Amino acid sequence: MATTYHRSWAEPYKMKMVELLRMTTRAQRLKAIRDAGFNTFLLPSKDVYIDLLTDSGTSAMSDRQWAGMMQGDESYAGSQNFYHLEKAVHAYYGYKYLVPTHQGRGAENLLSKILIKPGDIIPGNMYFTTTRLHQELAGGTFADIIIDEAHDPQNEHPFKGNVDLNKLEKLVKKHGPEKIPYVCIATNVNMAGGQPISLANLRELWNYTRQHGIRIIHDMTRVAENAYFIQQREPGYAKMSIQRIVKAICSYTDGATMSAKKDALVNIGGFLATNEWEVYEEARNLVVVYEGLHTYGGMAGRDMEAMAIGIEESLNDNHIHARVGQVEYLGHRMEEFDIPLVRPIGGHGVFVDARRFLPHIPQDKFPAQALAAEIYLDSGVRTMERGIVSAGRKPNGEQYFPKLELVRFTIPRRVYTQAHMDVVAESANAVLHRRNRIKGLNMVYEPKYLRFFQARFERL
Ligand SMILES: *Cc1c(COP(=O)(O)O)cnc(C)c1O
Repeated sequence: MATTYHRSWAEPYKMKMVELLRMTTRAQRLKAIRDAGFNTFLLPSKDVYIDLLTDSGTSAMSDRQWAGMMQGDESYAGSQNFYHLEKAVHAYYGYKYLVPTHQGRGAENLLSKILIKPGDIIPGNMYFTTTRLHQELAGGTFADIIIDEAHDPQNEHPFKGNVDLNKLEKLVKKHGPEKIPYVCIATNVNMAGGQPISLANLRELWNYTRQHGIRIIHDMTRVAENAYFIQQREPGYAKMSIQRIVKAICSYTDGATMSAKKDALVNIGGFLATNEWEVYEEARNLVVVYEGLHTYGGMAGRDMEAMAIGIEESLNDNHIHARVGQVEYLGHRMEEFDIPLVRPIGGHGVFVDARRFLPHIPQDKFPAQALAAEIYLDSGVRTMERGIVSAGRKPNGEQYFPKLELVRFTIPRRVYTQAHMDVVAESANAVLHRRNRIKGLNMVYEPKYLRFFQARFERL
């Protein structure tokens, strides 16, 4: 038998400055999580050891980005840094026109106001919270056209972000293409667990929408992670660079909204990009109402500089290999302990299936919420509930009972080491071993909107 050699990846950077972490005792953590009403969103970060709440705005910037921050041109109009950002967006994503915004939802607000009329339908490959809300506020209705496999945590489909074109065709036949201003395509779909769309599927969608005069708008928050999965899984792309794959993805879309707080490696920022002059002109008019002048859009000059540099760094093959490699490493460690996960392991985090982890806790006693609290209590690792609490209530007041009852372990980019990942996996394993003693929760305070942020609980 031929010998095969396993070659490890490693982080393509070394450390120049460190941020000290505070370790806590179990007694301190018990007090902290009680004070926080068993909601990890309400924990002060000083009481957290390893923070896997989200990958949004939590990345570590490079020395080049910090140097860029010192070159902020804080002129009100025509800042140099805007032109650098514009150049990066042209060069790496290929879009013609750029309107900066303070973060992703700022771009979603502008886009929805410009393109959506009351009564319109906006098909998308699964919803995202802020995206859907802006569509609805503009009078539109979101329609889910993702493939069915995306709703099944055990399904191993390599591209669970793909669109089901039959679902789209039904909508076009029913409502007519004039009622569909655009199809919203997220790359590496967050709500499906960080799952990619294939280039073949996107190309088919592109051809279909050309025939009907429908735009494709790209929610490109995690486009680099999606490109990595295409390189690894889609036939014909193994030797193509991440830069070229990203450019190819963007070339099958007409415009984009971007939250640069994720893949683009900055702590704040975003933009709206388009290839259409009319949309650009309208966005330039609106941005001054909601964000700021069209050459800063709610960002400081230094933030635009850091973003321009972050875009380039995010498309480096070694960077993205290590980034997704770290997420997969954590997932594989957990699987060694038989911790039930959403499969395949996603690009930005590991999603633990709380239904199978805590089968004795009924969904209305909040198993994922309880599990996130127990993991914090065990080790100071902070995660987030993505289940019945996050799903909230219908307009008639009934609770949604979502299929997926998950705890998300989200990994910030370039922040933690492999040893941190070991600690996280071992903590999940320790909790697994005493899972029979874990009880559900009662909700004792429930906010009206987006309850998961501020709800409070007590142990049963
Ligand atoms: C985070 C996110 C947004 C919103 O961006 P913000 O910068 O948080 O306003 C939109 N779409 C997706 C897929 C996201 O993950």
